[in-house]
Amino acid sequence: MRYDVVVIGGGTAGYIAGSILARKGKRTLVIEKKKFGGVCVNSGCVPSIFLFDVTFLLTRLKEVAYYLGLEGKVEYRNALQKRNEIVEYLSNAGKKLIEDAGGETEIGEAEIISPNEIKINEKVVEFDKLIIATGSKPKIPNIKGIEYAISEDEAVNLNEIPESMVIIGGGYAGVEIAQFFSRLGSTITLLSKATILPNLSEDARRSVRDSLEFDGVNLVENVQINRIHGEGVFTNKGEFHGEIIVYATGREPQLPKGVEKIGLYTNECGVIVNEYKQAKGNIYAIGDVTNKERKTAHSAIFDAVVASLHIMDEKSLLHKINGYKIPQVLYTDPQVGIVGEEKDANKFSIFYFNATTRAIINGIRDGYVKIGINKNGEIVFGEVIGDKSEELINILTLAINSKIKVENLALMPFVHPSLSEAIVNTAKGFFDMDVDRYRRTNDKT
Ligand SMILES: Cc1cc2nc3c(=O)[nH]c(=O)nc-3n(C[C@H](O)[C@H](O)[C@H](O)COP(=O)(O)OP(=O)(O)OC[C@H]3O[C@@H](n4cnc5c(N)ncnc54)[C@H](O)[C@@H]3O)c2cc1C
Repeated sequence: MRYDVVVIGGGTAGYIAGSILARKGKRTLVIEKKKFGGVCVNSGCVPSIFLFDVTFLLTRLKEVAYYLGLEGKVEYRNALQKRNEIVEYLSNAGKKLIEDAGGETEIGEAEIISPNEIKINEKVVEFDKLIIATGSKPKIPNIKGIEYAISEDEAVNLNEIPESMVIIGGGYAGVEIAQFFSRLGSTITLLSKATILPNLSEDARRSVRDSLEFDGVNLVENVQINRIHGEGVFTNKGEFHGEIIVYATGREPQLPKGVEKIGLYTNECGVIVNEYKQAKGNIYAIGDVTNKERKTAHSAIFDAVVASLHIMDEKSLLHKINGYKIPQVLYTDPQVGIVGEEKDANKFSIFYFNATTRAIINGIRDGYVKIGINKNGEIVFGEVIGDKSEELINILTLAINSKIKVENLALMPFVHPSLSEAIVNTAKGFFDMDVDRYRRTNDKT
């Protein structure tokens, strides 16, 4: 059997590349060893954002109940089962997208046997191009007794809410899991070997820290873990106990068997690729398996698009998207969204949500929009802390990647009242036209 393209891995990167290439007429096979949808659908974005939504709503409900004098009791009943149903639906959807596009799928573990052949379920399949999209797995920290702990992927799929939890790791996953489970009623200790979220700005970190404290998370930073035994984590700052212990200590690439036969270059973060996601000649690598530090699903999607365009020889489209900045979002409450590099900007403007009409109405006023511009007046950096940052940061991503000048954004008619008005007001700040700012300094609401 011979294919134009074989994709190993049916996660986000793999099913996107597989469906694009199949639609464009390439004879394509996507091989998945476990479940289509990969980490994002089965044990990453989807279950964790489900927990975000449930706990966000719960918190808002409590606030409204307080204002209205409502009394009641929350029973989770089948909430976690609903999460499982959504995961199942999306996992099947990933496979169906490839097949509906005319591609083929197969379940089994693929092994590379030569630069033009793989082995799957005891048969040999030949290919012109190979895309390695085998993703990443949790990095197991070298701590004595780690076998008592579960990974971040397992934590977001727990079917019971534990009474207490100790989370090791102060990165995105650790912080998000700490807040979700704390809001669901678990007693949470979050242990971080340094300060939490070291890549965030000081303001963003403070915001998240305040919010964790407000939710009752026992945050212990700059701590050294000596060992784990049973439900206990023993550190240089004392013992911490949790019915469940979770490690969220980063991820490492998951390479397919036989990868050494094709002589790819790798480092501890993954397969080294060029700007077109080529690892070597006819071999591409995309998504979490590649050597990037920020491993996200939308970055995996972008890689899949780039590799597919390159395989289809779409040079002009590739040229247009070269150098695009990819945003990042932390799904805490408040959310944190970032795009671009702060160091590329030489002038900044900030506008706070507590001066934004829509935020004043809905009562969620924490946070701000920050925009950085370069000396040509182009927007090069965006940071949004607050409600719906996941959406608002997309507007700044569009502005940055389209090389929009800040005056165009400042004069853009956005809907009133809307949260995204804060973006226009931030841009207006560069021209001293952000009239709503007056409200913040004279805030009596
Ligand atoms: C708790 C958590 C929360 C997250 N939240 C977000 C979020 O909110 N937003 C976001 O953008 N990202 C999030 N991520 C990251 C996101 O899940 C990953 O970046 C994304 O899944 C990467 O996609 P991928 O296709 O590269 O790899 P994966 O999703 O890991 O898929 C790789 C697939 O390849 C298969 N495979 C591996 N080896 C073989 C083989 N030899 N043969 C056949 N199949 C094979 C695997 O079984 C797997 O299904 C989160 C991750 C975690 C753990």
